[in-house]
Amino acid sequence: MSENLYDVIVVGGGPAGLAAALKAREEGAQRVLILERDKELGGILNQCIHNGFGLHYFKEELTGPEYAGRFIEQLQGSGIEISADTMVLEITQGRQVHAVSKAGGYRVYEAGAIVLAMGCRERTRGAIGIPGTRPAGVFTAGTAQRYVNMEGYMVGRRVLILGSGDIGLIMARRMTLEGAKVLACVEVMPYSGGLNRNIVQCLHDYDIPLYLSHTIVDIQGKDRVEKAVVAQVDENRRPIPGTEMEFECDTILLSVGLIPENELTRTAGIQMDGRTNGAVVYENMETSAPGIFACGNVVHVHDLVDYVTAESQRAGAAAARFALGQKNGDEALELVNGEGVSYTVPQRVRLSGVEKAVEVFFRVRRVYEGDLRIVAASGGEQLAAYKREHLAPGEMEHIALPKVLLQRAKGPVTISIQEAAK
Ligand SMILES: Cc1cc2nc3c(=O)[nH]c(=O)nc-3n(C[C@H](O)[C@H](O)[C@H](O)COP(=O)(O)OP(=O)(O)OC[C@H]3O[C@@H](n4cnc5c(N)ncnc54)[C@H](O)[C@@H]3O)c2cc1C
Repeated sequence: MSENLYDVIVVGGGPAGLAAALKAREEGAQRVLILERDKELGGILNQCIHNGFGLHYFKEELTGPEYAGRFIEQLQGSGIEISADTMVLEITQGRQVHAVSKAGGYRVYEAGAIVLAMGCRERTRGAIGIPGTRPAGVFTAGTAQRYVNMEGYMVGRRVLILGSGDIGLIMARRMTLEGAKVLACVEVMPYSGGLNRNIVQCLHDYDIPLYLSHTIVDIQGKDRVEKAVVAQVDENRRPIPGTEMEFECDTILLSVGLIPENELTRTAGIQMDGRTNGAVVYENMETSAPGIFACGNVVHVHDLVDYVTAESQRAGAAAARFALGQKNGDEALELVNGEGVSYTVPQRVRLSGVEKAVEVFFRVRRVYEGDLRIVAASGGEQLAAYKREHLAPGEMEHIALPKVLLQRAKGPVTISIQEAAK
């Protein structure tokens, strides 16, 4: 047998890749390989030294490294092979994996099944086009987090945060604890993009103001940031003249969104979803390319790692089954985004592969409060409805759709939000 032939190859050794590899092995895959470009496994969790991880999965509060550590420990004695410091350059629909490393050089692996678990990267200043000069002192929040938590560098003293995504909120607290003055968090939308618990624990607890419907309209400074001008925006997100406020700061942290790392996926010709920026997947996380699965942040941006783990275990199990010869049926139900829903994952369901229920994850387009229903319907008939009192774009939602109800579907199933008439 060729030494480059594996049952399952996992690209990325973050929480998604770790859970998928362990599950694939448990489900009977003999040769499982994780390829990770970083020197260590653990992915983004290695720099997340705050707690709050694992509440659902382990029913206890762990830090990011502790959460990753629980899975890394399980690798010992599992027989799973690991190639760290290895960059995957290309995958093909024929399930070849091209990778390069200092130790092994350029290698082409063959896989029975592939799991894509490359995570995501942050949007930068260039991606959102903030006007002004280009001094030092503008960082993405995740880069600042890596500097402060892993490399031991303090990135600034007077800090303004643009965007209220979770990384920005976490960094508002982190910078405060390290002795910096965080002047404000500025968010262009009328609601926060982060979890409510992070707004309370990272901003309110430290008296850091959150300016909703505001944005930075100018960054000033020659070598280093000296000032940022913030203005209120109208409902079309255009700055309102006369509402400008000036903040004297030396650092601006950007928390303005994450982009799933899908260069490998796109190059392989795998079908993408323009709303998630990830691959279109079936209920078992298989992409449009048979035997290639995807899970974690590379499919859609998750706010809780616990859901990443559960989803990735599904992908790992299905990858093992595929590698061992089990093929999936062809007939699939489409899930359609209805009123108020911006995307669903999975986008397709093959009922032949469903045991009892399908977990459907989605985000809503705006904040909803009150007497709400998440409704699944097909052909004008309601299949299921789930009560909620609060829904927000910053908080990923999920429902479990029972197979018996989906069997009644007459064509695509639409997921939508309904508000009780006021
Ligand atoms: C700052 C921050 C704070 C968070 N806070 C919380 C929290 O408090 N609680 C919580 O539950 N969740 C939190 N999350 C969410 C959670 O950490 C993520 O959802 C989770 O880490 C995603 O896992 P992943 O494996 O998909 O991606 P990642 O952790 O990003 O791992 C992807 C891995 O793939 C590797 N990779 C990428 N491309 C290649 C390639 N071409 N070749 C080889 N390897 C490659 C990367 O190096 C990386 O190691 C936070 C996330 C961030 C960013």
